[in-house]
Amino acid sequence: MARLKQFKAESKRVLDLMINSIYTNQEIFLRELISNASDAMDKLYVQSLSEDGVKFNKDDLKIEVKVNKELRAIHVKDYGIGMTRDELDKNLGTIAHSDSSLFKEDLDEISDVDIIGQFGVGFYSGYMVAKEMRVMSKSENDESGHVFISNGLDGYKVEKVEKTERGTEVILFLKDNTDDQNFDEYLEEENIKHLVKKYSDYVRYPIVMTNEEGEEETLNSMIPLWKRNKNDVTQEEYNQFYMDRFADYQEPLHTIHLQVEGTQSYNALLYIPSHLPFNFYNETDKHGLSLYSRSVFIQEHNEHLIADYFSFVRGVVDSADLNLNISREVLQNDRQVASMARRINRKVKSELELMLKNDRDKYEKFYENFGLQLKYGMYNHFGANKDELKDLVLFTTTHEDKLESLADIVSRLDEGQEEIYYVSADSILKACQLPQVEKVLDKNVEVLVLMDDVDEFALRVLGEYEGKVFKALNQGELDLDEESKETLKKLTEENKDVLEILKEELKDKVSDVRLTSRLKSHPVCLVSDEGLSFEMEKVLAQSPDESQHIKATRILEINPDHALFEALSKVSEDKLREFSEVLVNQAYLIEGLEIEDPARFSNLISLLMIEASNSNRN
Ligand code: ADP
Ligand code: MG
Repeated sequence: MARLKQFKAESKRVLDLMINSIYTNQEIFLRELISNASDAMDKLYVQSLSEDGVKFNKDDLKIEVKVNKELRAIHVKDYGIGMTRDELDKNLGTIAHSDSSLFKEDLDEISDVDIIGQFGVGFYSGYMVAKEMRVMSKSENDESGHVFISNGLDGYKVEKVEKTERGTEVILFLKDNTDDQNFDEYLEEENIKHLVKKYSDYVRYPIVMTNEEGEEETLNSMIPLWKRNKNDVTQEEYNQFYMDRFADYQEPLHTIHLQVEGTQSYNALLYIPSHLPFNFYNETDKHGLSLYSRSVFIQEHNEHLIADYFSFVRGVVDSADLNLNISREVLQNDRQVASMARRINRKVKSELELMLKNDRDKYEKFYENFGLQLKYGMYNHFGANKDELKDLVLFTTTHEDKLESLADIVSRLDEGQEEIYYVSADSILKACQLPQVEKVLDKNVEVLVLMDDVDEFALRVLGEYEGKVFKALNQGELDLDEESKETLKKLTEENKDVLEILKEELKDKVSDVRLTSRLKSHPVCLVSDEGLSFEMEKVLAQSPDESQHIKATRILEINPDHALFEALSKVSEDKLREFSEVLVNQAYLIEGLEIEDPARFSNLISLLMIEASNSNRN
């Protein structure tokens, strides 16, 4: 009898975690054993490619699943590469040796439930249902077969065993039933069939089970959905696959099936979800596509397969040309991966463009969930991808209460109108109430109403669309026509003294005081120069990084056509200085900026009202 060997310490911790806490996902043990069997046959295949490699009959490659109700045992048998005595010891005696990179991470950081999903602890998952597992294996490189026996708790032993066929047979002896758990359910053929279909349908080798009548039945379809001809797949099948594979309770909004043949051959099955995943903007949410090579799963969440601005896309990519044993580091720099990604991005973009053109309602549904992502995409990387995205973004405008594309907006511009005006506001109504907007609206010019924090940043980066420059209505100078420009110049000259006094009095609050042709019925407004805008200032103020808290330049503009201006030019210098504070505070409030001393402002207004009522009585 071989001496009982101890598991490596780390393995023991994982075992404990698993056996004691991951009951919800217990049934995946079968998938894990089947995928190991499939891996073992892949390895045999790869080895046979070398000259002195083993030879085998392709038809022999299959996975047999058997249940033994009397012994309460499940068998999973393969004809793959098998394991030598040393390999049994090394591969099953310690998880650290498995391909999964579990121990590169700190175990304590990992929540229990994540273990299987993220790292596929594979073989050990059997202990969620088994009180003992035996692994009989025979490798080409060992003259005799060996069996690994363990209850998963105390340790394991490896002994010689009678086995001549190459390959591995795993036998699970199920745990005793408890009040909470009936492990016998795994002995039901129907249940086994269901689990194979659910988890292992695309395994490339037949998974067979001998039924009660003694007939061998193949349980899996072997051909992945993405490899089937597009015309043969129903939307229901696409949807079902999506919901199973990506654990979504809702059908996808849109499906894209890409089948590429040529110098590089690959299939991609891509989905746009119909809702925003709840942790989409959370750093823990993993983006990227799942990568397969010849239907064999390689990697979940490969972020190099799709642009980050399309990271809402979920899906799988299966390449015929990628090396099976390719490592993660290599994948990152792989030229094939990069070229697939380019094609995939192009396809997603063109599908979205078509949707926008042909199915506006659907596109708006999409945009409601992921439009923000596109706008961030435009802004990110210093605008590197702005041209890719500019025809996919939509904005609200004063034209109609609906989302508009930039192309639509530009098509409505009057001849000679070289600028696309925009303002930031919470709603179209609020935008229309802004003093700076009134005159422009009078001229029937459409104005973009920016409602998301990222909007102004995105438009800044974009700069122009079809040669039409984006222009904030509360920034810089606004020249509506030559004539008013001249008048303004004249008026400024005439009222030099008044403006100088205001400028001096308000030098701590604004960098300039000037007359404007921007306003119609409002007396004053606040604008910034062409640099940072007030909206951007507010967004930056939310940054935890204080160095980002930059202020926009503040310029007080006065409407010379307003009766208030006439009044200002008549009052005494003292009064003018007193009024200046009220003026600037009004402008601040309109822009949604905080005023320095609200109580003082309130008192000033009260005084003005008292004065007004006194002069009325006279
Ligand atoms: P992983 O499959 O991620 O490597 P597992 O815990 O599932 O992790 O398996 C550990 C190792 O045991 C595998 O890498 C493989 O070397 C070996 N192994 C498991 N099952 C088999 C099998 N049926 N045939 C050959 N080797 C196997
Ligand atoms: Mg495995």
